Amino acid sequence: MALQKMLIYGEWVPAAAGRSISVYNPATGELVDEIPAASAEDVATAVGAAHSAFPAWAHTPAVKRAELLDRSRHSLLSRREEIARLITEECGKPLRQSHGEVNVAADFIRWYAEEGRRSYGEWIPDPLPDRRLLTIRQPIGVAAIITPWNFPAYMVARTATAALAAGCTVVIKPARQTPLTALALARAFNDGGIPPGVLNVVTGDANVIGQAFLDDQRVRKISFAGSPKVGKLLMRGAANHVKRVSLELGGHAAFIIMSDAALDRAIDGLMSAKFQNAGQTCIAPNHVYVHSSLLAPFLELLSSRVERLKVGNGLDSETDVGPLINRDALEKVSSHVNDAIDHGARLLTGGHQLTADDQAKGNFYAPTILADVTPQMRITREETFGPVIAVTAFETDDEAIERANSTQYGLAAYLYTRDISKAIRIAERLDVGMVGVNDTRIAAVEAPFGGVKLSGIGREGGREGLAAFTETKQLALRIEPA
Ligand code: NAP
Repeated sequence: MALQKMLIYGEWVPAAAGRSISVYNPATGELVDEIPAASAEDVATAVGAAHSAFPAWAHTPAVKRAELLDRSRHSLLSRREEIARLITEECGKPLRQSHGEVNVAADFIRWYAEEGRRSYGEWIPDPLPDRRLLTIRQPIGVAAIITPWNFPAYMVARTATAALAAGCTVVIKPARQTPLTALALARAFNDGGIPPGVLNVVTGDANVIGQAFLDDQRVRKISFAGSPKVGKLLMRGAANHVKRVSLELGGHAAFIIMSDAALDRAIDGLMSAKFQNAGQTCIAPNHVYVHSSLLAPFLELLSSRVERLKVGNGLDSETDVGPLINRDALEKVSSHVNDAIDHGARLLTGGHQLTADDQAKGNFYAPTILADVTPQMRITREETFGPVIAVTAFETDDEAIERANSTQYGLAAYLYTRDISKAIRIAERLDVGMVGVNDTRIAAVEAPFGGVKLSGIGREGGREGLAAFTETKQLALRIEPA
C-alpha cells in the first residue's frame, strides 16, 4: 500500500499540506489505501490547470479528441482486472459486477469519442432576405465533476468523457469511499495521451472541494451525482456565479406488476435490478406494486429466489450480494425495515444485519422482503439504498399509478404487462425520467439517463449527455443582395 496521489496538470501530486484520508474495505473493515486531502489551494491549482488547458483542448479537432479518448479506452481495458478488483475492494460489489462496470465505462468512452464528432449546429430559416441565422455548439469551459461511490468507474466515465468529447476540461472529485477507482481511470486517460491539465482529479474533504468549485469563477459547470441534500446545496451555491448544473440525484423506483404480467419474467427483472450492488443503485426498485390477483404466487416465488442469494465478500466468486458501503447505510436500511415492521408490515425473509463469522467486520444486511407495506411507512417515501423489497397489492391501474407517483422522486419506474397499449398509456402517466417495460435494463450509453422532481435536472448518456457540456452560440450573418 502506498499513499495515492492526485492528478493535476499531468503530474501525480500529494496534497500541498501533506494531509491524507483513509479508504476502507466495506466487506472487511480493513484499510485499502490512503488518499491526499486536498486544500482549497490544491483545488485552485487543479482548476487553474484545467482553465489553462481549455483553449487548446476546445480547438483540438473532435476527431483528434476521439483518437485520444479511444487510446484511453484501450489503456483502461488493458488494466480491467486490476480496476475491477479495486472497485470491489473499495465499494464492495461482487467482482463480476465490477468487471461489467469497467466494460460499461469503456463503452461510454467509445460512445462519447464517436459522438463528439457529431456536435452539430443548425441553419435556421430566416425571415429577413439579407441575413442568415445559424448556431454552433461550443464547449462550456472548465467542468467540475462530483461523483458518488456506488458506480465509481461508470459515473466518472459517463460524465468526464462527455465533457472531454465536447471540448471541456475537467476537475473530478470522486467520493471519499471510492477515490482509488477514479485515480485508476485518470491514469488510463493520462496514459492514453490526454494532454496535461485537460483531466485533473482532486481527492479529500467534500465540503472544502465543493466550496472551492463553487467559489471559483473559472468553473463554468458543476456536474453532480449523489444525494438530493448535496445536490440542492450545490445548486444554491452555483447561483452566485450562475454556473450551469446537472444533477443526478436519488430515486424511489416503483415496480408495477399488472394482472396480465409474465410473473417469472417480472421476478427475474426485479431480482437483477434490486440486488445489483446490494440495492445501492439510484434506479433500484424500491417499492413493488403487484396486482392483488398475483400477490400470493408472487410472494412465494420471490421468497424462494431471495432466500437463495449468497451474501458475502465481493471477491468471493460465489457472492451474489456484497456489503453496504458503511455503518450509516447499515443503520438506515435497518431503521427502514424496523419502522415498516413497527407499522404493521409483514416480514417474509431477512430483516437483520449478518454478523456470523467475519461478517461482523463488514456491513452485511440480509436480503429482505416486506409485504403489506403502507404509505405511513418511511420506506414508501425515502430511498432505502439497500437489499430490501417492499411490496403492496393494488386493485386498479389508477391506484398503481397514483401510488407510484406519490414520492418526491422521479428517476425510474418499471412496468410489467403483456398489453402494449396499456404499457404505453401508463408509461406516459408516470412522473419519471425513465420507464422500463417488461425490462429493467434501462441504462444504456446511447440513451439519456436522468430524472424529474427531486431526482434531478438534466440528462447524462446519449447525445443529451454531450449537449449538457456545450453552449449554443447563434451567428446572425448579413449578406449582400444577389
Ligand atoms: P452524497 O453524500 O451526496 O455524495 C455524493 C458525492 O458528493 C460524493 O463525492 C461526496 O463526497 C460529494 N459531496 C458530499 N458533500 C458535498 C459538498 N458539501 N459539496 C460537494 N460535494 C459533496 O451521496 P451518497 O449518499 O454518497 O450517494 C448516494 C446517492 O447518490 C443516492 O441518493 C443515489 O441515488 C444517488 N445517485 C444517483 C445517481 C444518478 O445518476 N441519478 C447515480 C448514483 C448515485 P464525499 O464522498 O467525499 O462525502
